[in-house]
Amino acid sequence: MTSVPVTIGMPRIGAPQSPDFSGESGPLRDTHGRIHRDLRVSLTDRCSLRCTYCMPEQGNEWLARQSILDLDEIERVARVAAAAGVTTFRLTGGEPLLRKDIVEVVRRLAVIKSPAGPVQIAMTTNGIRLGEYLPDLIAAGLSRVNISIDTIRRERFHELTRRDRLDDVLEGIAAAAASDLRPLKLNAVAMRGVNDDELVDLVEFAISQNAQLRFIEQMPLDAGHTWDRTQMVTRDEILAALSERWQLAAVPGRGGAPAERWTLDGGPHTVGVIASVTAPFCGDCDRLRLTADGQLRNCLFSTTEYDLMPVLRASSTGDVKDIDAGIDRMLRSCVHGKLPGHAINDPGFLQPARGMNAIGG
Ligand code: SAM
Ligand code: SF4
Repeated sequence: MTSVPVTIGMPRIGAPQSPDFSGESGPLRDTHGRIHRDLRVSLTDRCSLRCTYCMPEQGNEWLARQSILDLDEIERVARVAAAAGVTTFRLTGGEPLLRKDIVEVVRRLAVIKSPAGPVQIAMTTNGIRLGEYLPDLIAAGLSRVNISIDTIRRERFHELTRRDRLDDVLEGIAAAAASDLRPLKLNAVAMRGVNDDELVDLVEFAISQNAQLRFIEQMPLDAGHTWDRTQMVTRDEILAALSERWQLAAVPGRGGAPAERWTLDGGPHTVGVIASVTAPFCGDCDRLRLTADGQLRNCLFSTTEYDLMPVLRASSTGDVKDIDAGIDRMLRSCVHGKLPGHAINDPGFLQPARGMNAIGG
C-alpha cells in the first residue's frame, strides 16, 4: 500500500487554500452540514506499549520534542475551539498519561466554557498508571475515561503490546471501575487469529467491571502499514460470535457516536461495535483532531493537515486577539475542507503516513 508522506517533527507548509473565514462566527459547520463539537487532543505520540496494530516495535519516527504543544498552547486552542461550539475534549495520544503535566492539562481545559455551557473532558488511555493518577484527574475535572484492553490473557497481551504489563492495565481498570466515572468504556480491537476467540470473555470481563465493551474494527492506521483487509474481523463476524452467547437487540438513538450498541439478553449490559471499515458512520461525524505537534485534522484517515504552529508560535509577539482569530480561521478552514466520508473502501485509498499513535485515536 502506498501512502502520502507527512513530514513529522518538521515545520509544514500552511493549510490548503480555502475561503477567508475572517469575521465568521457560529458553530463549526462543514460544507455537508455537519456541526463539529468534539475535539480529540493528542498530547504525545509516545507510549508505554507497542500495540502491533498501532506502532512498530522499533524504529518509530518520534515527533520532535520542540514541536510538541505546551500547556498554554493546548489551552489556547481549546478555548478558541470551545468558543466556536466544541463541547467535548477527548485527551488521547500515544499514551496521554505519559504527559507529565496531564493533571494540569485536565484542570485547565475543564474550566473552559462553550456557548452551550461547561465542556466535558474525556480521556482514552491504555490504563497504565491510571490508578495512580485517577484521584487527581477526577479532582481536576475529568468526566469520562475509555480504557483499551484487547486481551485478558497474559502471554497474549505481552505478544500483542510487546510489553508484559497486563497487571498494570488491570489495576487501572479496577481503579476506574471503583470510581464514579460513568459510562466506563473498554475498547478492544478485534484481530483474526489474535483475540477473535476471546470476544465473549472480553465482554464478560467488562461486565464484571461494570463497564461497556466496545469492539473496534482494525483500521489501516498502523505505523508499519501492514493492515490487510482480508485479515480484519468485521462487525458482522463480531456480532455473530456474540450472538452465540447472548441475544442482541440494537439500542436506538446512536446520534453522532462512533459505536453502534446492542443490549445483551435484554440489558442492562450493552456491547458496542465501532465499524469504521465495514459500516462507516461519516455522515454523522462531529469530530476534529489536534495532533501533539499542532496539526489540525478533519478525519483520522485524512492526508491533509492544517498547521497551527505558525499561528501559535510565529505570532508569539502578536496581539492575543490576532492569535485567537488565526486559530479560529484555521479551525474553520479545517472543517471546510472535510470530505463527506473517508475513502478506506476506495481502490485508490492512501493510508496516512502518521501511525495512529501520532494522530490520536
Ligand atoms: N494509548 C491510548 C489507548 O490505547 O487507549 C490512547 C491512544 S490509542 C491510539 C486510541 C485507540 O485507538 C485505542 O483504543 C486503540 O486500540 C485504537 N487503535 C489504535 N490503532 C488502531 C487501528 N489500527 N485500528 C483500530 N483501532 C486502533
Ligand atoms: Fe500505545 Fe494506545 Fe497505540 Fe497501544 S493503541 S501502542 S497503547 S497508543
